[in-house]
Amino acid sequence: MTSAFWHPFSDMAKVGPNPFIIEKSDDVYLWDKDGKRYLDATASLWYMNVGHGRSEIVEAIYDQARKLPVYSTFGDFSNEPAETLAHMLSERSPEPGSKIFFVGGGGEAVETAAKLARRYFSAIGKPEKTYIIHRHHSYHGTNGLGTSLAGIPANTAGFGPMVRETEEIPTHDAEALEAAVVRLGADNVAGFIVEPVIGAGGVYPPMPGYMEAVAQICKRHDILLIVDAVICGFGRIGTFFSPERFGIKPDLITFAKGVTSGYLPLGGVVVSPKVAAPFWENPGTVFRHGPTYAGHPTCCAAGVANIKILEREGLIERGAQLEGDLLASLKSAEPFSIVSEIRGGVGLLGAVELSSEYLEKHPQGVGLLQNEMRSRGVFVRTLSTAVAFSPPLTIEREHLDEISSALADSLSALESKA
Ligand code: PMP
Repeated sequence: MTSAFWHPFSDMAKVGPNPFIIEKSDDVYLWDKDGKRYLDATASLWYMNVGHGRSEIVEAIYDQARKLPVYSTFGDFSNEPAETLAHMLSERSPEPGSKIFFVGGGGEAVETAAKLARRYFSAIGKPEKTYIIHRHHSYHGTNGLGTSLAGIPANTAGFGPMVRETEEIPTHDAEALEAAVVRLGADNVAGFIVEPVIGAGGVYPPMPGYMEAVAQICKRHDILLIVDAVICGFGRIGTFFSPERFGIKPDLITFAKGVTSGYLPLGGVVVSPKVAAPFWENPGTVFRHGPTYAGHPTCCAAGVANIKILEREGLIERGAQLEGDLLASLKSAEPFSIVSEIRGGVGLLGAVELSSEYLEKHPQGVGLLQNEMRSRGVFVRTLSTAVAFSPPLTIEREHLDEISSALADSLSALESKA
C-alpha cells in the first residue's frame, strides 16, 4: 500500500512510499514495527514531558470521552474539565486572576495572543498599535500571524506577502528591541513575542539578563510582552510556565505541548488581568475569536491528569535539575571537527550544531546525523543546521549516557566519511 499521508515539514519526494512506522511507546522508549527499541531524546516534538505510556492520562481521557466527549463552549456553555484546567492554570500563572483562553495547539495560541494584543489596544482606544516584534531564529507556528513572525527565513519563503505589521530584531540584543520600538514608534507597536529558549530555530538559550531587560523595555513603552512558552512551559526549563525562571510577568503567555504532554492536542493563552479587564468588565467589548474546539472537555481532562503527574512526581523542577547533565552528555560531541557548537544549559534543551564547512560539502549532514543516531537506537530532531535534544522530564542519567555515546559514535562515523 502506497502511503497517502503527507508529512508536515517533510520532503515527501525523499520520504517516499516507505514511511518509518512507530508502533508503541513506554516512558522514554519507542518501538518500531519490527520491535526495535529507540530512546526518545526529543520527547517527540518537544512535548512528551511526563513520558509515554501514562495510563492515568489515558483513563482520564476514556472517562471523560464516555461522559461528555466534546461540546461547544461558545457563549455561556462550559464543561467541568475546561473549568478545572483553567482554574489550575490561572492559579499557577505569574499573575493572580489571569484568564485562560483555550485553543487547539501552539500555532493557534500564537494567533490568539497576537490578535488579542492588537484587539486589546483597539479596545482601550489605541487602535494604531498593531506591530508585533519578534526575534531572528524564533519559531511561532505555521498559521498566518505565526508564519509572519518566523525568524527562520526558510519558513516564510515561497508563500508570498506576509502580515506587514511585524518586525524582526537580532536574537540576543535587548537594545535592538528598544531601537525597533523607537524606529516604528511606540504608538504603532502592540507587542513583542519571545521564546525564553528558542526551540525549533536552533535551541538558543537567552543571554543572562535578556528576558529581564526585554520585559522592562516592553513596560516602559506600553508594549505587551508575549512569552511563547509552547516549548518552555510545564517543566521544560524548570518552572511551571517558564517566565517565572526570570522573575518576569508577561502580559500574555502562549502554551501548548507539555500542557497535555501531547496525549491530546491542546493549547492556549494565559491572559494577564490587565489585558483581560476591558473584555471581562465591559459588556459589548468582545474578542471575536476562538476555534471550534476551544475548551474541548476530553483534551482538558488530559491536561488536568498530566499536570497532576508533573507536580506529584516533581517533574516541573527536573527540567532545571538535569539541565547541566544534558549539556554534559552533549559534550561528547566536542572532539569532532564537524561540530561547530554545542548549545544548552537552560532546561532540558540542547543542540549540536554542525560546521558550515561540513554542511557545505554534505548539505544533508543533519539528516545523516539523525540517521546515524537512529541506527544506534536514539531519536533526535533535525533543525536546519543542528540536531536538537529535549528528552522527557522522566529521563534518567543512564539514558543521558546512552545519548552521549550514540552521539559520539554517530559523529565518528560521519567524520570518517567527511
Ligand atoms: N510556538 C513555539 C515556540 C513552538 O515551538 C511551536 C511548535 N513547535 C509552536 C508555537 C506551534 O505549535 P503547534 O505546532 O502546536 O501549532
